[in-house]
Amino acid sequence: MSDELLHLTVLGCATPYPSADNPCSGYLVSSGDTRIWVDAGSGTLGPLQRHVRLDELDAIWISHLHADHSADLLTAYYGALYADIRLAAPIPLYGPPGIAGRLASFLTNTPARSPIESAFAVTELHDGHRADVGSLQLTSRAVSHGIPAFAVRIETAGKSLVYSGDTAPCPSLTELAEGCDVLLCEAESAQAPAEGEQVHHTPEDTGNTASTAGAGRLIVTHVGRFLTPRQAVARASARFDGPIDYAAPGTTFSIG
Ligand SMILES: [Zn+2]
Repeated sequence: MSDELLHLTVLGCATPYPSADNPCSGYLVSSGDTRIWVDAGSGTLGPLQRHVRLDELDAIWISHLHADHSADLLTAYYGALYADIRLAAPIPLYGPPGIAGRLASFLTNTPARSPIESAFAVTELHDGHRADVGSLQLTSRAVSHGIPAFAVRIETAGKSLVYSGDTAPCPSLTELAEGCDVLLCEAESAQAPAEGEQVHHTPEDTGNTASTAGAGRLIVTHVGRFLTPRQAVARASARFDGPIDYAAPGTTFSIG
């Protein structure tokens, strides 16, 4: 019998390149029999298979097309079509506008378009996009990252997880995260850049976003190379009174 909890498993959260013990951004979000691969950063397809095979996924959701969030779609494509996996149907893939063309141009090695649709059933996201995937409801909002980028709220049976993707602090993320049980929020920047050039959160921003949204719990992720996880959590905690964790790779958080 499947449970109704919402589970978040961290496959990796390094940026902008994987470390020896931490792949780039990728998460498995599951509830009962429903499983979604959220961001497919470099190195995440390996640990994903500790939990689920590609042909058992209900969907893949991609925040934006920077390689540290999407590069393993390329190897997943080969896995889905040219190895031991037999897909009953293409895997539903939600991602930014243009995602199918970007994958096709990388994978095509003849003048013909690659058979991307054989592996993935692509739906392009837009601000406010909603989708039901198994027992999970997804709401995506456009966020501020300098390229098309999205955050997502994933809900089931009154439990909610919001993932920032990559973004500067922005009203759409705060609105999306309002009253959520868990906010999984990036803290990439050691310090804020010049005004108008910000595309990430500092740890203080991360704490502020969680506080303003009234999140029940904050999980700090995507900590950049000029911060340690300990520093990021300590700095975020100065701006958020609730419980805070770091998205350590391999950890599963249960919500609800
Ligand atoms: Zn990015």
